[in-house]
Amino acid sequence: MREPHAVKRITYLDHAATSWPKPQPVIDAVVMALTEAGGNPGRSAHTLALAASRLILEARTDVAALLGVQDSRNIAFVPGCTAGLNLALKGLLRPGDRVLVGSTEHNAVARPLHALAATGVRVDVVQGDDAGRIDPDDVERALAEAPTRAVICQHASNVLGTIQPVGDLADIAHEAGAYLIVDGAQGAGHLKLDLTALGADAYAASGHKGMLGPQGVGVLYLASGVHPTELTQGGGGSNAGDPVQTDSRPDRYEAGTPNTPGIAGLGAAARFLAANGDAIRAEERRLTRLLYEQLLEIRGLRVLGPPPAEERVPVVSIVHDRVDADRIAFELDSRFGIAVRAGLHCAPWAHTTAGTAGRGALRFGIGYGVTESDIELAVRATREVLA
Ligand code: PMP
Repeated sequence: MREPHAVKRITYLDHAATSWPKPQPVIDAVVMALTEAGGNPGRSAHTLALAASRLILEARTDVAALLGVQDSRNIAFVPGCTAGLNLALKGLLRPGDRVLVGSTEHNAVARPLHALAATGVRVDVVQGDDAGRIDPDDVERALAEAPTRAVICQHASNVLGTIQPVGDLADIAHEAGAYLIVDGAQGAGHLKLDLTALGADAYAASGHKGMLGPQGVGVLYLASGVHPTELTQGGGGSNAGDPVQTDSRPDRYEAGTPNTPGIAGLGAAARFLAANGDAIRAEERRLTRLLYEQLLEIRGLRVLGPPPAEERVPVVSIVHDRVDADRIAFELDSRFGIAVRAGLHCAPWAHTTAGTAGRGALRFGIGYGVTESDIELAVRATREVLA
């Protein structure tokens, strides 16, 4: 049994890893899926199976609306952002292709590309500045050097908070006949999205971070006309007698029994964000700036990423000139009940770009439910740990 008091005392500042606590409607939707819609969607025709199908249909419609996607068939539910990125990258790239990639990418991009490089995909990195900002002119220059199949870039850095100019990159990539594939793990939810206007060919997002859904479900948006080869074949969709995987969307990319409770929770999260997202984002921005400015006043600390006046996602990472990030994180947790994340954050490239590759950093991740007094406690506690 869970200890309610142990849960209560946590000041949760690890939203960039996963958001917590979830809005009550998300929890209710997961429970409802398990209790009232427990059949297998898209298979049997009985009441419980139809109820599950309906939940997924509603979730797809509401997630598409939240993300500015007109045709909800262009939204595939996947196990997470990592799975979505693997599908887009491995489904679109072939030996001999060249890709350009940003210099702060997460391992969810870096490792699939490393695996693809072994099959003959050429991977060229476009270096950002020490805040991770990619200059679109550098991408344009690199595109002029050789034919390129795709530009791959994160919407925002999970270490530096930097927002990349993905709309501009889409235009530049398209002019060169390349796809733009975006890792939106830290963008979705924290940034207001209109994926149609943004112009990305593929946009992968976690459901469990800024989108406020449960873990184990994510979204892969594929623009009309972008058809990666599926990575998994199996059951689902129509024409069960056909040995070939269906090419109709989204079934093509959703073989097997889906995570119905997770998808139902994500649908509820999308409705919650549609109603409250602007207010949540404004508060995230305010608290992020407050935290950044107050941390800057602590002697011996370097705050990574762009300065507070520049727009960023609600992530603030720090390094101290003497005390290791792991040590600070341990003290914040054990003495003050503050949950943060130290280390390389699965993003060694971002740390190399920021000059923190050897030691990593301590990251505060702000999100829904964080209050000004949480930020004050975090600053006071950091000051005490470093005193
Ligand atoms: N990309 C970035 C920038 C991330 O921060 C993360 C999560 N740490 C991922 C990809 C992978 O997301 P998930 O773990 O939800 O698959």
